[in-house]
Amino acid sequence: MHKFSIGVDLGGTNLRIAAVDEQGTLIEKVTLGTKVSRGRDQVIVDMCDAIQRMSDKFKDTAPMMGIGIGVPGIIDMQTGLVRESPNLPDWVDYPARAAIEQRLKTVVILENDANVAALGEKWLGAAKDFDDVAMLTLGTGVGGGLVLGGAIWRGANGMGGEFGHSTVEPDGHICGCGNHGCLEQYASATAVVRMAREAIAKDPASALARAASSDAEFSAKSIYNLAIQGDDNARRIYRYVGRCLGIVLSTLVNSLNLPIYVIGGGVSSAWESFSPAIFEELRLRCMVYAATAPPDPNATHLGASAHIVSGPGHKTIITRALLGSDAGLYGAARLPMIASVKP
Ligand SMILES: [Zn+2]
Repeated sequence: MHKFSIGVDLGGTNLRIAAVDEQGTLIEKVTLGTKVSRGRDQVIVDMCDAIQRMSDKFKDTAPMMGIGIGVPGIIDMQTGLVRESPNLPDWVDYPARAAIEQRLKTVVILENDANVAALGEKWLGAAKDFDDVAMLTLGTGVGGGLVLGGAIWRGANGMGGEFGHSTVEPDGHICGCGNHGCLEQYASATAVVRMAREAIAKDPASALARAASSDAEFSAKSIYNLAIQGDDNARRIYRYVGRCLGIVLSTLVNSLNLPIYVIGGGVSSAWESFSPAIFEELRLRCMVYAATAPPDPNATHLGASAHIVSGPGHKTIITRALLGSDAGLYGAARLPMIASVKP
C-alpha cells in the first residue's frame, strides 16, 4: 500500500472521513451524522474517535502522511480558531485545531471547506490538468475556492475566495453576511427554493405551486425536475441562477484570466438548466472571456463579444465539477501531502 493520509469533511449534517493514498485512490470512507445539537465538544469527540479508528486500521500497513480537515466557516490559519461557521452555530472563536490536536496527540491541518473542494477538483477532478483554478460550490450557501500554482490562495487572513458574497443585485435579498444581493442569495439550493416560493406567491395555480404542496421535500432538485419538463417558472429560476453566476464569473474571468473555473455542489447537477445563461452573460459582459472563449457555433456576438472575438492562445474553460460530494474529502486528504511542514 502507498503512503496515505486521512481527509475529513465536516459538514453541518454529515461528518465524512476517508483514507486516501498519495496516488488519489480512496482506501476507505465512513459517513457519520454530525451531532451539532449536542455541542461542539461532542462533534470533536465523535470526529477524533473516527479518525483514530481509521488511522489504527491502516497505520501498520503504510506510513500515514497526516490529517486534513475541511471546515465550513472562516478559519484563522495562524491560530487554528474557527471564527464562525454558519452550519456549526456554537463554533464562534473556537480553538478547534487545538481541541482536535490535544485529543489526537498529533498535528492536523484545518482548511475552509470550499478551498478544500477546489483543491480536490484540482488534484483529481475537472481541473486536474491545470495549476490554477477557481471553484464555486453551490450548496446550502455558495462557497468559493481559489487554487493558484497548485496551492490554496488564502489571502492575508485566510478569508480569500469568498465569491459567494459578491453582489449581483445591489438592493437584493438580504444575505447572512449582512450585505444585500449576494450571489449566495440567487445561486444556492436555499435561494432556488426561496425564488420558487416567491414565484408561487405570484402564481398560486402554477405547476410549481402544485409540486410544492404535494412534495414534502420540495427542493432545488424538485424544481430542476420541473425545469427539464419545460415548466416556465422553474426554467426562469434556473436561468436567473445562471445569469447571476455569469455576472460573478465575468468579474473573476476579467480579474484573474485563469484557464479553468469549476462549478460544483448539489445545485451543479442542474447544469443543463443554468449553464446556457452563464455563457450568454459571459459573452455579453466579459471582455477577457470574449477573447478566450472556446469556439461555439451557436454564440451570438453581442456586448463584449461584438467588440472582441476569440483568437488563438489559451481558452477559458467554465465547467462542472467531476468529483461530486467527494471533492472535499479528496481535497482534505491532499492537504498534508502538499503542506510545507509535515506533521
Ligand atoms: Zn453575503
